[in-house]
Amino acid sequence: MPVAVVNVGAIMNDLVKIVRALDFAARKHVGQKRKGEAGEPYVNHLAEVALMLAEATGGRDPDLVIAGLLHDTIEDQDVKYEELAAEFGKDVADLVVEVTDDKRLPKEERKRLQVETAPGKSQRAKMLKIADKTANLRSIRSSPPSHWNSERKRQYFDWAANVVAGCRGASKPLEALFDEVHRRGPG
Ligand code: ZN
Repeated sequence: MPVAVVNVGAIMNDLVKIVRALDFAARKHVGQKRKGEAGEPYVNHLAEVALMLAEATGGRDPDLVIAGLLHDTIEDQDVKYEELAAEFGKDVADLVVEVTDDKRLPKEERKRLQVETAPGKSQRAKMLKIADKTANLRSIRSSPPSHWNSERKRQYFDWAANVVAGCRGASKPLEALFDEVHRRGPG
């Protein structure tokens, strides 16, 4: 008896799509590390964000979890919108674009725009933003970039809180996770 051959096209269900997104993200970010001194693989950040989104939604929004895995592919790895749309659908690609900064702008301007534009984003983009900022604050606590002094860490915490302020109302569980790490402070 031949081994059953799986028809990939026929079972493009949510689980397959999520694992494909994880594989895609791991490949795209293969050479990228977190900025902290531990230098964790960047994919750890993506998994952490996706897990928060999966748990906060009780697993009911697979596309949001997939967007969590892919949320930095355009910004950091020059992946194109069209590629994400073709691989994972327009819903996922639109979500990633919503949380992507315009890298042509100077850093300070991008940070200002994140605060300014947060209130106008969709509920799901706000959820992704909150999960992303929560993961970043946790990283600063557990493994801060070696050249960051306490002032710099405090500034990042304050800025992240301003972005999240514009996302309030999107998700109670995610806001609670953010508030918990923010309350503990940069350490
Ligand atoms: Zn991120």
